[in-house]
Amino acid sequence: MAEAEVGDDVQGDDPTVNALETRTAEILGMESAVFMPSGTMTNQVAVRTHTEPGDEIFLADNAHIYLNEGGGASALSGVSCNLLPNERGVFDGKTLEQAIRPSDVHFPQPKLVCVENTSNLGFGRIWPLQTLADVSECARERGLRMHLDGARLWNASVASGTPEAEITKHFDSVSVCFSKGLGAPVGSALAGSKEFVARARRFRKQFGGAMRQTGIIAAGALYALDFQHDRLADDHKNARTLAEGLSRLDGVSINLESVETNLVYFGLERMATNELVERLNEREVLMLSAGPGVIRAVPNLMVDADMTQIVLGHIKEILEG
Ligand SMILES: *Cc1c(COP(=O)(O)O)cnc(C)c1O
Repeated sequence: MAEAEVGDDVQGDDPTVNALETRTAEILGMESAVFMPSGTMTNQVAVRTHTEPGDEIFLADNAHIYLNEGGGASALSGVSCNLLPNERGVFDGKTLEQAIRPSDVHFPQPKLVCVENTSNLGFGRIWPLQTLADVSECARERGLRMHLDGARLWNASVASGTPEAEITKHFDSVSVCFSKGLGAPVGSALAGSKEFVARARRFRKQFGGAMRQTGIIAAGALYALDFQHDRLADDHKNARTLAEGLSRLDGVSINLESVETNLVYFGLERMATNELVERLNEREVLMLSAGPGVIRAVPNLMVDADMTQIVLGHIKEILEG
C-alpha cells in the first residue's frame, strides 16, 4: 500500500484503482466495476442507480440493505421496501411472485430485487443455486432487476466450491467487500454492465464516495484478492471446530447445520449472553452480543486453529466457573 502507484480516481487515472476494478469485474463475470469506500455505499448506490423515487424494492426482512444501512434506501433513493418472509435470509421465487402487485397507478412501481449471499443475519446461509435461478427467472419475467449484496460472496463461493461468476450470472449488479473476511482495511466495489456502472459513477460522486489518490487503499484490496481469498476456507474450518466444540458444552444451544461459513451464532441456557461476552472480552476474546439471547463469533484471518481451541477452553471455564 505504501508503494502503490496512484493518480486521481475522480479523473479516472489512478492505475491501481483501475487494475482493481478490471480484476473485480473479471472475477464477477461483469463488464465493469467501480471502487467505493464501503459496502453500504455500493449497496445504496446500486439501489439509487436501478430506481427512481417512488419505486419499490423487494428484499428479505432481515436484509442488511434494509436493516443495517441507516434507512438509506428510503432516505437516499426514496424507494419503499417490500419485505419478504424468508428462511435464514433465503426466499424463493414463489414468495417473490406473490409479493409483486399488478401494474396500477395506486401501487409503487416494482423495480428491483435484492439478494444477500451469504445472508449475514441468516447465520451466513448460502443461497442454493437453484433458488437463485428461480428468483432471478421470476424477477426477469416481471421486468425487475436483480442486485446481489455480496459483502460475503467470497465466503459463499469458497464454502460451496462455486466460482463467483456462477453465482453472479443471475444478477444485473453485484456489490462485494474487500474488508470483512478478505481483510483489507477499506473498500468495496459495485459491478455490472458498462452502462450501469457509468450511471453508478454519477451517484458515487453525488453520495461523496469519489476519492482522489485512492490507489493506496485499492492496493490493499488487490493484495486481499491475491493472498486472502482462498484462505477463507481456514476460517470456515475454524468456525466448524468452534461450533462443534460449543455443541458439546453444557448450557450452550447451537444449530450445527446453520454453520455454513465463518459465522457462528449460538445461545446460552443459563447465563446472560452479555455476561459471557464481557467475561470473554476480559480475556481478550472478542464476540458480539447479537440481539437477545444470541452471540455471534466470527473466526477470521487473525484467528488460527490453536486459538480456536483456546477460545473453547475459555468459554468452558467461564460457563463452568
Ligand atoms: C458488512 C456488510 C455490508 C456493508 O459493509 P460496510 O463496508 O460495513 O458498509 C453489506 N452487506 C452485508 C451483508 C454485510 O455483511
